[in-house]
Amino acid sequence: MDKKLNKKEVENLEKRILRKQVLVWDHLLQKEKEEAFVIGNRYKTFLDNAKTEREAVSEITKCIIKEGFSDIDNLSKSKKNTGKYYKIFHNKAIALAIIGTKPLKEGLNIIASHIDSPRLDLKQNPIYDDISLALIKTHYYGGIKKYHWLVRPLALHGRVIIKNGSAIDIKIGEAETDPVFMISDLLPHLAAKQNIKKLSEAFEGEKLNLLAGSIPTGDTKTKNRFKLTVLKHLNKQYKIIEEDLISAEIEAVPAGKARDVGMDKSLIGGYGQDDRICAFTSLEAILKLDKPERTAVTMFFDKEEIGSEGNTGAKSQFLEQFVSDLQNIQKKDTSQRSLREILINSSALSADVNAGIEPDYKDVYEENNAAAIGYGICITKFTGVKGKSGASDANAEYIAKIREIFNNNNVIWQTGELGKIDVGGGGTIAKYLASYGMDIVDCGPPVLSMHSPFEVSNKADVYMTFKAYKAFLEDC
Ligand code: MN
Ligand code: MN
Repeated sequence: MDKKLNKKEVENLEKRILRKQVLVWDHLLQKEKEEAFVIGNRYKTFLDNAKTEREAVSEITKCIIKEGFSDIDNLSKSKKNTGKYYKIFHNKAIALAIIGTKPLKEGLNIIASHIDSPRLDLKQNPIYDDISLALIKTHYYGGIKKYHWLVRPLALHGRVIIKNGSAIDIKIGEAETDPVFMISDLLPHLAAKQNIKKLSEAFEGEKLNLLAGSIPTGDTKTKNRFKLTVLKHLNKQYKIIEEDLISAEIEAVPAGKARDVGMDKSLIGGYGQDDRICAFTSLEAILKLDKPERTAVTMFFDKEEIGSEGNTGAKSQFLEQFVSDLQNIQKKDTSQRSLREILINSSALSADVNAGIEPDYKDVYEENNAAAIGYGICITKFTGVKGKSGASDANAEYIAKIREIFNNNNVIWQTGELGKIDVGGGGTIAKYLASYGMDIVDCGPPVLSMHSPFEVSNKADVYMTFKAYKAFLEDC
């Protein structure tokens, strides 16, 4: 029988064997707190400048060119040996690399995030008249709660390829003097029927139509005269004709800038933090890197929110092609066998957010295994739904390695699942990279109100995520 321990002995035992969850704000020195606010401000600017995947690619490109990265697809002689390269894929995904001192065949350290977010895409025949108003039809992209998008200012961001083949980038609704768009909803007085419907049925996809104008062009005999007004403005401002909208990708996103939230300004509210919080912090991490041992790679994928499909998602050949390019410019073996060897020997973080515990909805989380904002970056061993189905489930050996790197570098981290068993779940890009045989685990900060137009993160977690990614790229 164990002997009864005295108070001091119990305390020592606790200290020795219990895991203690640390609140980042309790841990940071004054200087680090200030740094967290500085990085938080840079992050807000990134969110404002990168509301779509295309804008994220151009914002990232702007940042890295200043730091001496060269376009691997257009290397001039003088830029051949910078050791810092980038590759843009169809303008909607981008990869960066800093060549390490070790050969590529020993593996890469890869951080992969995604730069697409839930939103409302314009349909290809979007504009129509109804009740003497011009309206614009949308088709939602990714998992949204449709009512979040009603009665709030929305902006249009996107690219239109006009008849002569040139690309026109449009952005309406962000400047102070710009108009915005909105989706109207029923007044409470007439919503009795709507109110008793199930939430999933009360708001229909085909009713997510944007209000776009009310002045007619022509007279009462003119057909579609409100639509004509909208097209007239688009034509005047952007030289667009109606058929051009078919060769276009225009996204309705929440208008306005990211903001500090809370009296202490410790939180950040804004659109698209899933997953630009990981895109931004992994970008900051690679930019702060000196010559690493293993080649450091950061990937920024598109289409995660709809299953990583298409030629810009994580299921595409983008990573393989980039690795092949990196071998090629160093005059190394680009055979399939050699590329497979590099990828098998690689270590990766699937940099994506987890769901922080919502104070008012604790019942959908299992609190011992849920992430909380303010407690640092979250290691998510597995994703998936109903018995880990569809998950990438990381190896214990690899998590041990990541845990050691974080602990050695003073990174405050936590672990969590996405909700209770059979209640929550989800998928990330982890499983697509795992299929190459590399080690990979999901690892990113928690956010509140995920997939809403105003997601919330904690500046302390932004800071810790940056530190974690930098430590991974340096030490893994
Ligand atoms: Mn995500
Ligand atoms: Mn998501």
